[in-house]
Amino acid sequence: MAITGHSSRDACPGALQVHHAADGPLARVRLPGGDLTGAQLAVLATSGGGVLELTSRANVQVRGLKDPAAFAAAIAAAGLLPSASHERVRNIIASPLSDSAAFRRLIRELDAAICAVPELADLSGRFLFAVDDGSGDVAGLGADVVLMSRSEHFAVFAGTTDLLLRLPPTEAIHEAVEVAQNFLRLSEGAWRVHDLPREIFPGVPAELSKPRTSGYVGDFGETTGALVPLGRLTAEQAMVLAEAEWLRITPWRTLLVPKGTRLPEGLITDPESPWLHVTACTGSPGCAKSLSDVQADARPIGAPVHWSGCARRCGRPRGEVVDLIATTSGYQRRAS
Ligand code: SF4
Repeated sequence: MAITGHSSRDACPGALQVHHAADGPLARVRLPGGDLTGAQLAVLATSGGGVLELTSRANVQVRGLKDPAAFAAAIAAAGLLPSASHERVRNIIASPLSDSAAFRRLIRELDAAICAVPELADLSGRFLFAVDDGSGDVAGLGADVVLMSRSEHFAVFAGTTDLLLRLPPTEAIHEAVEVAQNFLRLSEGAWRVHDLPREIFPGVPAELSKPRTSGYVGDFGETTGALVPLGRLTAEQAMVLAEAEWLRITPWRTLLVPKGTRLPEGLITDPESPWLHVTACTGSPGCAKSLSDVQADARPIGAPVHWSGCARRCGRPRGEVVDLIATTSGYQRRAS
């Protein structure tokens, strides 16, 4: 198998490397583990163009920026831009329900360790780390490196590491960073581990976990999970959520808050809602390639469905999903 190399730096947007979308500059702000405070959410809501999108990596996209430089200054002041050089590579998803201080600290320490290695600024903005609490909820989401909790220890999956490794947290972080460094040395322009032949760089074993397709809606002890339909929050909704003591965005376009937090209209806490199984790309007017206003068209169809404005199917979740793709004569159905 040949290496799937790329001739140029990936165009994945960041907070500083903004993407020029049809509705204006778009910034993607990395939130390792999906964690942010209400005050930080308020900054994202007020310093952008009014629409926030939750991504499948538990990050936030801010659309329609009026002044990208002022936006960058505002989020830096709010503590959302700890490293200008590494801002696009702080891609860490983590099991959202795991609340232990040690687990959340490991996510922050992994983030800091990635940012402390200058060469890792050259990873693509698509390279992904996952920290799983042992439940398997994020291990199956296609990360390049997985740290899997085994009681007090962690196993690190990817690269040349021993799949039975039991490492204390600090060593697991060190190992994960080393895997990323090794990947960069071998990558020859590849962006992701799966772009390389397995004999050169073994990826995360496919059998590690089945992808979870929806995430944490309803009450879980002292935590409430709410679906943000289609992952899109208005500034007004975000400002209500900003009253929360803490927030955690999940890779399934849901967010967790302390139980009893006031939720804005439009969010869904019914775990049986058919909207749990509906995703959509940005569509018109945000994307010039779109043949339809996908966000307005999207609705439940009785099976997991992803609505797209063109065949690229951006934001499609992993797992079995019906694709509905806009054409000049309506939506075309394609089963996975
Ligand atoms: S799937 Fe097509 S229309 Fe939708 S956001 Fe991606 S490129 Fe744009």
